[in-house]
Amino acid sequence: MWQKDKDHFIHPFTDFSVFHEEGCELITDSDGIYVEDSRGNRFIDGIAGLWCVNVGHGRAEIGQAMADQATRMAYFSTFNNLSNAPAAELSAKLAELAPSHLNHVFYSCGGSTANDATIRLVHYYFNRLGKPNKKRIISRNNAYHGTTYLAATLTGIESNNWAFDTLDHLVTHLSEANCYRRPEGMSEAEYCDHLVEEFEDTVAEIGADNIAAFIAEPIMGAGGVLVAPTGYHKRMQAVCRANEILYIADEVVTGFGRLGHFFASEAVFETQPDIINCAKGLSSGYAPLGATLISDEIYEVLGTPQGKGGVLSTGFTYSGHPVSCAAALKSIEIIEREAICENVREVGPYLERQLKTLGHHATVGNVRGSHFMMCLENVADKDTKALLPVEARVGDRIAFEAQKRGLIIRPVGHLNVISPTLIWTRETVDTAVAILDEALSAATESLQRDGFL
Ligand code: PLP
Repeated sequence: MWQKDKDHFIHPFTDFSVFHEEGCELITDSDGIYVEDSRGNRFIDGIAGLWCVNVGHGRAEIGQAMADQATRMAYFSTFNNLSNAPAAELSAKLAELAPSHLNHVFYSCGGSTANDATIRLVHYYFNRLGKPNKKRIISRNNAYHGTTYLAATLTGIESNNWAFDTLDHLVTHLSEANCYRRPEGMSEAEYCDHLVEEFEDTVAEIGADNIAAFIAEPIMGAGGVLVAPTGYHKRMQAVCRANEILYIADEVVTGFGRLGHFFASEAVFETQPDIINCAKGLSSGYAPLGATLISDEIYEVLGTPQGKGGVLSTGFTYSGHPVSCAAALKSIEIIEREAICENVREVGPYLERQLKTLGHHATVGNVRGSHFMMCLENVADKDTKALLPVEARVGDRIAFEAQKRGLIIRPVGHLNVISPTLIWTRETVDTAVAILDEALSAATESLQRDGFL
C-alpha cells in the first residue's frame, strides 16, 4: 500500500522533497479520539482528521445510516424537480439550526465548492437585481477558503497560491485581524478601529456599486487561528449593511460545535450573515458535503425564474447526495443527543487555559484560539516576535515530537494547530498537554543542538 501510494497518489499540500524519500504514513484505523497507523501505533487525534471529525471516529451508527441509505437508494439526481428524503430532511434541519433568516440550502461537495458556488450565486443575485457591476468580493490576507480557482482566489495565504494563477479582478484582500502582530503601541480597540477604517476606505476607493460581498471566517483557521478584536465582525457587518454588500460567513471550520455552537456567527460574534457556508463538521467528515445557507431575502431573487421555463442553471451531480446527507443527519443527531456543543463550552476554556501553561517554552510566542480551535505560534525571540528561519522547520519538529509520544497535531509553517474531535474530556486535555509539554522540550533541545536557538 505504501508503495502504491508513493507511486500514484498526488497528495494535496504535501512537501514532495519529503514524500519522494519517505512516502506517507498510512492511517488505517480509528476509534473515538484515536487513530491508528498501519504499523499499529495509536495516536490521539489532535486535529479531528482535518478540523472535521467533530463527533469522533468510528461511529458505527453513522456508518449504518450511510449503509442503509446506500442500499436503499445510493444516488439519484436532484436536478429538474427531483429530490431525496435525506436532502429534504437535512435542509429543514439546517434551517432550524441556523440563524432564523437563513432558511434555504444549496448543496455542494465540500468547503471549496461551497464557497465557489456561493460567489457564483451572489453574482447571479446582483445580475438579477439589475446591478451587474456589483462583482468584487472583499476577502482578507491569510484567509483560507479552499482551492477551486475561485476559492483559491478568495484565499489570502500568499504561499498557497505561489506559481498558481488567480482571478484577481474578482477579489480584493484587506489586512487580516492579527491581534498578536498588530502594530506596536496600538490597543486592541484602536486596532479594531484601524481594520474597520481600512474596509471603509477600500469601499470608498472601489465603490460600493462594484462590490458584491465580504467573506470572512469567524476565526481565521488555516491562516493561523486568528481571533479578531472584540466587536470586529459586528462592525464589518455594519459597513456591509451600509453599502449593500452581502456578508458571507465561512463557517467551514467554526460550524457544528467547534466553538460550542452549531454556528458561531450569531451565537458567538453577534452577526447575522446573509450567507453561511459550511462543510467539514456538517457530516463530521464521514462523507463529502458542503452547504450554502441562504437568507430568505436572497432566496426570493434566486427562486424567481428569469423568464418562462428559466432554471437556476448551477449545481452539481452530487448536490444533496443522499448518502452524505444521511451521514450529516446522523452526525447532527449525535451532536444534539450527546450534548457535544455543551461539552465544547465546558472543556474548551479548560483546553485554552492548559495550553497557555505551555507559554514558558522557549519557542512559544503566543497561544491563541478559542474552545476547540487552538494554535501555538513559535518564534525565535518572544520580545521582537522574530521568526526562526524556515529551515528550522519548527512546526514540523514539534509535531514530530508530539506524534512520537502519541499525539497528532498539525504543523502549519511555524505554527502548530490543535483542533481536536469535540469529544475530548478534561482528562484527554491533560494527557494531550502533558505530551505537548514534553514535545516542546524535545523540540527546543533539537533546535539548540542544530544551532537555531
Ligand atoms: N473554508 C475554510 C474556512 C476552510 O478551513 C476550508 C478547508 O480547510 C475550506 C473552506 C475548504 O474546504 P474543502 O477542503 O472541503 O474544500
